[in-house]
Amino acid sequence: MSSPEGFWRYLVDEEVARPARQFARDIVRPVADEIDRQDTYPVDLVSQTAAQGWNAMTLPTRYGGGGASMEEALGVIEELGAASASLGVCLITIFQSSKIIELFGSESLKERVLPRYAAGLRASYALTEGGRGSDIRSLDTKALRTDTGWVINGEKAFITSGSAAEFLVVLAETDIGVSTFAVDRDTPGITTHETEQAETFGLRNGPHVNLVLNEVELPEDALIGVEGKGLRQALITLSNSRTLAAGISLGIARAAFDEAFEWVADRTAFDERVIDFQGIQWYFAEASAEIDAARLISYQAARDLDDDLDYQRTSSEAKLLAAALATKVASMAVQVCGAHGTQVVAPFGRYLRDAKAYEIAGGSAEILKNTIAKRLIDTGTTSPQQK
Ligand SMILES: Cc1cc2nc3c(=O)[nH]c(=O)nc-3n(C[C@H](O)[C@H](O)[C@H](O)COP(=O)(O)OP(=O)(O)OC[C@H]3O[C@@H](n4cnc5c(N)ncnc54)[C@H](O)[C@@H]3O)c2cc1C
Repeated sequence: MSSPEGFWRYLVDEEVARPARQFARDIVRPVADEIDRQDTYPVDLVSQTAAQGWNAMTLPTRYGGGGASMEEALGVIEELGAASASLGVCLITIFQSSKIIELFGSESLKERVLPRYAAGLRASYALTEGGRGSDIRSLDTKALRTDTGWVINGEKAFITSGSAAEFLVVLAETDIGVSTFAVDRDTPGITTHETEQAETFGLRNGPHVNLVLNEVELPEDALIGVEGKGLRQALITLSNSRTLAAGISLGIARAAFDEAFEWVADRTAFDERVIDFQGIQWYFAEASAEIDAARLISYQAARDLDDDLDYQRTSSEAKLLAAALATKVASMAVQVCGAHGTQVVAPFGRYLRDAKAYEIAGGSAEILKNTIAKRLIDTGTTSPQQK
């Protein structure tokens, strides 16, 4: 029996995910290859997703957000990611920067900044530095207290969405450790530039710019939460954004699966449809089982975030599995489509490049495994009385 939903059932309320699937198919997919080719930030599309309420969908309604759950947000981002992972990462950097303010910011900062997200604010999350990627226990970007607030100096590298960002969340080191700051892009002393490392082969939504902060003066409440707690804030925020990143990888896997399936169902070889060869069917059967399983753990991670359960483990598991799976399915799609799979006019190269880049961006596979292992050790070595 054929399903109106195609191969992939909605795993959240259909009223939430169906509009995103339609928008992805009608508005995003037709321009997705062009965004990738041009490597530019899709300003217009991001304004349209804001108008749909998706840029601020999990923010509390008192700040103009949609008050939606992480599970619902995953339902939307999976659909948009299936059409364009580049659009997906635009929304992830917006989400990540607003989430950390929502979770840890002072009330005055939240009231000042969060409603702007609902109005379509473009934002970036600036953590990485030239010499520091996975290891962010200390940073070369420094923030010093002044009589009126803070002054920041340093340089951030590889900032996704940085070419179009109007607002930035910046991690910097103060006297007592890594801390997080909310910064308007037009604050005096901030410039961006592109190094030769700014262009990536995947997740292309504009150059990953370097961000220079030169004597940037900020008010007292630009500090997000407690000074010196930036690492803990980053870990919790990353658990949220990693779960949505898993959704983008699932979207890539689904898109590669769907478009390859359509092609092999039409193509003939040796007087048979390519899909009628058992060797080809098994590729799809295995990919279908693995996509279904990765979707389940990803939606579980989103529910764990909503319910405040052991989300560090499940969100890392979700991103680890979904990212690797997207690369595997995109590679399979190239294989079963033969020469067509390799052609630049076909979308499979884009899927493969985006999928591989997401095995590194937002938490590499190795760092995710470290997080999972740490949670296992914490859980397994806690005495029964402590559990
Ligand atoms: C497409 C893309 C977009 C990005 N966007 C942003 C952004 O918007 N903002 C931002 O701040 N950063 C961004 N980054 C940077 C990203 O966060 C870092 O690339 C990532 O944290 C890895 O750091 P690194 O590249 O310096 O690798 P390194 O830290 O140099 O690591 C090199 C290798 O060693 C592994 N490794 C490192 N430590 C360990 C360990 N303890 N155990 C086992 N293996 C380990 C890593 O997994 C990796 O395979 C982006 C990266 C990419 C690819």
